[in-house]
Formats: sequence, structure tokens, C-alpha cells
Amino acid sequence: MNKILCLIAGLLLISFHTLAAEDQLPFAIAIHGGAGTIEKSSLTPEQETAYRDKLEEALNAGYAVLDEGGDSLDAVVAAINVMENSPLFNAGKGAVYTYDGTHELDASIMDGRTREAGAVAGVKRIANPINLARMVMEDSPFVMLSGAGAEEFAKSRSVRMVDNKTFDTERRRKQLDKAREKLDRENKQDNDYKASVEALPISSRVGTVGAVALDRHGNLAAGTSTGGMTAKRYGRIGDSPVIGAGTFADNRSCAVSATGHGEYFIRYNVAADICARVQYQGQPAAAAAEEVIHKVLLPVGGTGGVIVLDADGNIAMPFNTEGMYRGSRSSGGAANTAIFKDE
Ligand code: ASP
Repeated sequence: MNKILCLIAGLLLISFHTLAAEDQLPFAIAIHGGAGTIEKSSLTPEQETAYRDKLEEALNAGYAVLDEGGDSLDAVVAAINVMENSPLFNAGKGAVYTYDGTHELDASIMDGRTREAGAVAGVKRIANPINLARMVMEDSPFVMLSGAGAEEFAKSRSVRMVDNKTFDTERRRKQLDKAREKLDRENKQDNDYKASVEALPISSRVGTVGAVALDRHGNLAAGTSTGGMTAKRYGRIGDSPVIGAGTFADNRSCAVSATGHGEYFIRYNVAADICARVQYQGQPAAAAAEEVIHKVLLPVGGTGGVIVLDADGNIAMPFNTEGMYRGSRSSGGAANTAIFKDE
């Protein structure tokens, strides 16, 4: 009897110590809502407040999960859902239009503990694509599902499906009309399309959302969700659903979510490159991210930014554009949000 009591007391002591140790561990979340030509003069005070409030709401949704001892994956999804459900961002509700006047959404998520990942590309009827990406990761033998197949998969799961028109917004429609006018004027042939798309104002795609989180158990996760680029055609897929390009997480290095001109982020394997520098060169995450954004991407014309979080809770959010909607909150601290360069 005494032995059993001793054993129980011992086990309780061990779990108490584990819990106490976990209580001490740092946890953190960082989010972005897209990078681009965001200058103070381009936003009214009301718009600026609306963005800051929504960023804070997203941060706090993710933070609450972490504070209660929840998983980094849950925190990432909670934060991204808030932004997907808002018309302010180019993801879910506020997604940009394709050239043909529809919406095609991309998203991906990665678990830094196991390096498992899930992604969906070109989905048209999924209200919260990040949720479906997570189901692909946890509930299918695949990493990336696209278009009709992804929706077929969604139908057999409890995923909120909506009409494509649900994503219609006046503001994004105006951006499409402008972009189409420019493309149609300049595009005599498809070959000219590349140059014309490159010349489209960055503002026509700003608003991709992403989150990176570190939980009390020391696990990192990253996720990204987007409507892609205004006036995209031919089933174009950007970097956001591409693991290694727009999203990456590995407990041994860092978690990254990217936003910017997707073609460059794919070609330069941006998210994985940052984590590789951390893991193999021993660079601090902030230095690795700065280098990739400013010294690798910028010289070749790749515009955008990243949010990065390492296993010690260090956060970096570099970008090479005028601004990036962003925010972070670390254990015990308050939520910080920022939009412009000099904040
Ligand atoms: N990276 C996204 C894409 O290329 C767009 C963005 O982040 O602004 O689809």
C-alpha cells in the first residue's frame, strides 16, 4: 500500500514539475496581413484603425490558445480564421478576383514538431481554406490537394462550403476592373502578359494573411492563406500553398509565413531558405530573414516580407516594401501591431 502511495506521489511530483516547467517556457505568436505599397497617406484614419483592430483581434485569438496551453497549430488556425473572415484581407472573405471574375484560394500549414504539412490550391468554395489545409495534413495521405479534388475531399469533412460569390467585395472588384483595363490595353498577345502582370500595382494583391506560433510545449507551427494575385489566370498558383516557399516550420530552426510576389518566393524557396540558414549556418532567425528579404530577393525584384519565429520565441518581421500589416505577442506581454515601415 505504502509503495503505491509513494508511486502516486512520485508521479504527481513529476507531472507538477513538468507543468511548472511548461509554465516557464516562452510562447509567442506573430501574424501578417500582407506586404506592399502601404503608405500612411493611402489609408484614412478609420481604415488604419480598422486594420489595427482586426490584427489585434487575430493576435489575441491565437494568443488565448497558447496561454491556455494549447497547440501552436490551433493558435495559427485561430489567428488566420479571424483574418480570413474579414473583408480587409486578401484571404477568405476579402479574396482578390481572378481575371475571369471569380476567386481561387490557396492555403498551407506546417507542424514544426513532425514536419507534417497540408495545403490546398485553387479552391473556390471553401470559406476558411486554412482549415481544409489542416485536414489535408491530418486526415489524408497527401500534402497538397487542388481545385475540384480538394473540394471533393472537403465535402466528406465538416468544412464550411460557400458559394464563390460570397467572396465578392466592391473594393476587390474595383481593383480587378483597373487591372483588367491595364492588361487588356497592353496585352496584344499572351506573351505580353508576363510584363503586364509584373507592372500591375502591388496594391492589387496586398492582404495575404499568415501566422507563426510557438506553444508552451516548445512546438512551432506556420500557416498562410491567400486569394493570390488580382487578375491571375490559367489556374495560377502562388507561393502561399507551397511548403518551403510561402510556409515552413521545423522545431530545430524556425517557423516562417511569407507574403509578396509569389513567383519569386517559389523560385527562391524563401521560407525554407531562411530556416536552412538558421539550422545549418547557425544564424539568428532575424539575421537569416533580413538577408533573404533584402539581399537575396530585393536585388532580383522580389517584393514582399516574412514573419519568423524561432524555438526560443524570438520574432522577426522584415519586408522590402513600403509596409506590411503585422503584429506579435509574446508570453506575458501585450499585443503589438504595425503597418508602416518606420514603426
Ligand atoms: N504571395 C501571394 C501570392 O503570390 C500574394 C501576396 O502575398 O501578396 O499569391
